[in-house]
This record gives sequence, structure tokens and C-alpha cells, in this order.
Amino acid sequence: MDIQVKGDLMEKLVSLCKRRGFVFQSSEIYGGFNGFWDYGPYGIALKKVVEQLWWNEMVEKRNNVVGLDSSIICHPKVWKASGHVDRFADIMCDCKDCKTRHRVDQMPDPSVCTNCGSKNLTEPREFNLMMKTYVGPVFDEDHKAYLRAESCQPIFLDFNLIRIATRQQLPFGIAQVGKAFRNEITPRMFTFRSREFTQMEMEFFCSEEDAMQWYEFWRMERYNFYKNCLGFADEEIQFAPHDKLAHYAKAAVDVEYKFPFGWGELEGIHHRSQWDLSRHQEFSDEDMTYLDQATGKRFTPTVVETSVGLDRMILAILCHAYREDKAPTQKEGMDEDIRVVLGFPARIAPVQVAVLPLSKKLNEKAAELQDKLRHFYRTEFDVTGNIGKRYRRQDEIGTPYCVTVDFDTENDNAVTVRERDTMEQERVSIDNLKAYLDNKIYGW
Ligand code: ATP
Repeated sequence: MDIQVKGDLMEKLVSLCKRRGFVFQSSEIYGGFNGFWDYGPYGIALKKVVEQLWWNEMVEKRNNVVGLDSSIICHPKVWKASGHVDRFADIMCDCKDCKTRHRVDQMPDPSVCTNCGSKNLTEPREFNLMMKTYVGPVFDEDHKAYLRAESCQPIFLDFNLIRIATRQQLPFGIAQVGKAFRNEITPRMFTFRSREFTQMEMEFFCSEEDAMQWYEFWRMERYNFYKNCLGFADEEIQFAPHDKLAHYAKAAVDVEYKFPFGWGELEGIHHRSQWDLSRHQEFSDEDMTYLDQATGKRFTPTVVETSVGLDRMILAILCHAYREDKAPTQKEGMDEDIRVVLGFPARIAPVQVAVLPLSKKLNEKAAELQDKLRHFYRTEFDVTGNIGKRYRRQDEIGTPYCVTVDFDTENDNAVTVRERDTMEQERVSIDNLKAYLDNKIYGW
């Protein structure tokens, strides 16, 4: 039975992520580099699966959404046209006493430092979030370029190339997954606000008349993704409509997740009107309009966007999965102790099946079995420590099924399958093992 998690959940999660190899602070041996994170072996496994799940839902399952993988650095004019060079800024102020820098929109009282309580603050000023670099041999203003602050701009640049290459007619979408960079002033809450992060974005091009309907459609599609694909409960997610819209936007809503530190934005769904294409048309002098074959009308398409940070999604998945319960233990003098479990849905667990030989003498037989299973599932071979310890380790990395090869396996051609959540064990014939696991993991 699950028990109430005692203490700070975020602290526990950060420590588990480090201990078990999900997420590490970047450049830790140099004291760390604030706002940058490395995904360890289980973290990258989880990240790849979740990215693929999104890609499958947004692109592969649909005939009217296609993909793109663009460069991270584009022509500097792109960011002038998009408004990022002039306007992508947070209003900041510094505490003159403790030197803490604050985002003014996040201060409960913008005249008091939230760190030390001082009222001795600098005047609020704009701070541009674009990360800069230089391209070419000369490091001067003419060679300045930007790391993209959002992954969607190249989608607008390539809109016509993609439309022509794929013979797509409106309405259709273009999706991209890739890194984005923002010089966030206050990176915080683990990976929630980082300076380098991955976005998964889809821009859907349609006529102005249909745009509100598509906006509603994508709003619900994305909500259902969180419920059906990730298993989030209704109490964990909510829509938060924007109070203030960007000047070009017609409608915008965030999907928020209930993180241990409060509700936080996971994803934005935006009706962006014709802003992006018309701005690029203006700055590039290229025709970005679309000719509707059926009506003979030419117009600039309207864009509905869905935009989510993969790192925030992973953080929400980890928060959702973390739990503690009481479980039997082999520790001396104790019948049970607290078990830490990452209860990932089996479909997305970094390791779906762990193969555990009961004794070293059974390594060869177990390795043979793993070789068969690894064609179908993400597997791990674990031989170190007693079986109880190995189960606990697999619980902590969220492995839903442990398959133990024991001395009876030779005789009955069967293995013991132990389920993470119930801790129940079942004897399953090796001949039926794939059917058994397919059913458990994928419901086939
Ligand atoms: P916030 O208000 O939290 O700064 P935003 O409204 O600027 O976010 P968008 O520009 O709409 O965010 O970006 C889309 C998504 O990209 C966000 O919903 C979030 O999941 C992710 N994202 C944005 N900034 C960061 C960041 N600094 N670190 C991690 N993910 C981010």
C-alpha cells in the first residue's frame, strides 16, 4: 500500500535521479553549471521513449502532420522577424543587499526581495534571453548569430518547401523536436527552468475561418495525450488560459501540471493568427501566401501551435511516478521497510524487463533469454547483489517486470516473473513469456 511521501518530494526525486543515473547537474566536477543538465543512462532511455511517443501521436498516427529537423542556428534575420531580438526579454531587478536577481513578474511584491526581505532594489530593466554566438572567422557584430530560443521558427521558414515536397494542402501541420536555448536569469526547480532544453512543437496551418475550431481540437488532443498516454489523473493537470495574450494571438491556453512546488506550465496551445508567416514574408520578401485550389483564393495561413518542453514533461512523469510503500525486507531484525518505486507506465519505462539469474551459475542461460527478449523490449541484465536487493534497485528505476532464472528453469523451462507494483510472482513458461509480457506491457 502506498504511504504518504515524507519530506521534500523534489529533494528526494533529485537525489534518486542522481543516484540511479537519470539526471545529473552538468559539469559537476567543476562545481556544476547552473541551468544545464545531463541525462544519464536511464534518463536518456526515458527521454527517447517519451519523445518517440509524442512523435508517434503527433506525426506518425496522422496523415496531415509531417516532420522536420532543422538547424539550431539560423540566419540572424529570422530572430529579428520573429520579434525575439527586440522583445524576447524578461523584466529583472537586483537586490542591492544580497545580490539576488529576480524576475519582476514572479515577485509577490515587486518592491521587496524574496530572498532577504530588503527593499533596496535596482530599477526594473529588460534582459534579453537570446543566447548569442559568432559564425565565421571574425567575432564582431556582423557575424553575430543566435542559438534558437524556440524550435518552431524554422518550421515557418520551411513551410513552402515542405508543403511542395509533400504535396500537403491546408489544413496540415509540421512538427519538430529539438533543442532550444534561453539565457534564463533564474534557472530553478531542477530541470523545470533550464537554459538548454528540448522542445516538441507542432505548427498547424489552416484558414482563418477554421482556426478556432482547430485550436479547440488540438487543445483536447493534447489533454488526452497526458491522460491516455502518460496516465496523468484529472487532478494533476489543468488548463490555464492566458490572462494577457501576445498582441498577435487570438487565443492561448497552458496545460499545467501539479508539481510538488505548485502548478507549472507544461505546454502551451496558441492561436498565432498570421503573425509568423506574414513577418517572415515582410523580412525575406518571399511570398508566404497559399493558393486554395478549391476556392481559387490566395491568403496567408493562420497558425495553431502546440508547444511543450520535453524536459518538463519528463519531470512531470518522474513526479507522477515517484511513490513510497511498505514492503517485506530481508534486512536483519525487520519484517518490512520503506520501498521507493518509480511507477512508470510499462510502455515508457526505461527498462521494461530485467533479467535476473538467481545464481552466477545461471548467467549463461539468463543471458540467452535476455538476447531473445531484447528484440522486443528494453531490457537489463542484473547479476549483482542478492535477489531482494536487485528487485529493489529495479523498483527504484521503475522496471515493471523482473524475470528470474533459477535452478528449476532447466527442468520446467519456466521463469519467475515479478511484478513491480503488486510484488506478486508468477511462474511463466518461457514459450509463453513473450505473449505474457506483450499483454502486460502493451495490453495486446
Ligand atoms: P515560462 O512562462 O515557464 O517561461 P514560456 O511561456 O516562455 O514558459 P514557451 O515559450 O511557450 O514557454 O515554450 C513552450 C514550452 O517550452 C513551455 O511550455 C515549456 O514546457 C518549455 N520551456 C520553456 N522555457 C523553458 C525552460 N527555460 N526550461 C525548460 N522548458 C522550457
